[in-house]
Amino acid sequence: MKIVKTIAEVRSQVKEWREQGFTIGLVPTMGYLHEGHASLIEASCRENDKTIVSDFVNPMQFAPTEDLASYPRDLELDSKIVEAHGGDLIFNPEPEEMYHKNFSSFVDMTVLTQELCGLSRPTHFRGVCTVVTKLFHIVKPDRAYFGKKDAQQLAVIRHMVDDLNIDIEIIGCPIVRESDGLAKSSRNTYLNQSERKAALILSKAIFLGMDMVKNGEINCSNIINAMQNYINSEPLAKIDYVKIVDCETMQQIEIIDRPALCAIAVYIGKTRLIDNFFTEDI
Ligand code: AMP
Repeated sequence: MKIVKTIAEVRSQVKEWREQGFTIGLVPTMGYLHEGHASLIEASCRENDKTIVSDFVNPMQFAPTEDLASYPRDLELDSKIVEAHGGDLIFNPEPEEMYHKNFSSFVDMTVLTQELCGLSRPTHFRGVCTVVTKLFHIVKPDRAYFGKKDAQQLAVIRHMVDDLNIDIEIIGCPIVRESDGLAKSSRNTYLNQSERKAALILSKAIFLGMDMVKNGEINCSNIINAMQNYINSEPLAKIDYVKIVDCETMQQIEIIDRPALCAIAVYIGKTRLIDNFFTEDI
């Protein structure tokens, strides 16, 4: 397992692997890896000869008020996890390597990004689309792996790849949870002991919503109200949103009469956490 810092090194390694006829999978991450990321790496290793993990805290997807400076970073831990799960290369560029000083081109999207997380993070998806496009051009993988944990991001990437005729297969992987249900996230490290306990309200609300759908409830307001009331019973929790949307358009729906996504974002203290379920996965 190799760690490289420059685009030139990635390209040279990819060229060598292509000459040997290898297929390549890409797992884009912001590092501080956990079992959620590991599941993506394993999926890539199963389906490709070589797996590249990008490990880059992308400044462009953070607003000035967000946690760019404090976002956890640990390349040594990341390299152990990538190696243990079969990855072949970590691409860990400095911001200057990805964005030179005259950088001025962006990939933006006029649909999908104005809903859910896009409302409280209006510049976020432009940063995501731009960095993912750059990574796609640098690595030119056959397949790229994204977690359903970031469901809107997955929909946005799928849409972008379709719009821009990017010839890369996008694979969505299931949410990996802690044993008590909390969705794994690098941001869970921000939580103190009482916040960690309180954060369980997210997954419990998700399971409550899933149960209602499983039992035949199709009225979105009923599901949303039940989930909101439940989350509001936790004093440390403050709801950003609880929504049910059409899986493809990310537009809110009233009745679950098509594949839908139920997504929530909740502040636990200062930490904003997300969770979701797809009705198709129930
Ligand atoms: P991040 O490092 O948070 O940007 O995440 C990198 C990739 O890992 C994204 O595609 C995420 O959706 C995915 N991911 C993060 N947490 C999880 C999780 N708990 N289960 C599955 N995938 C995850």
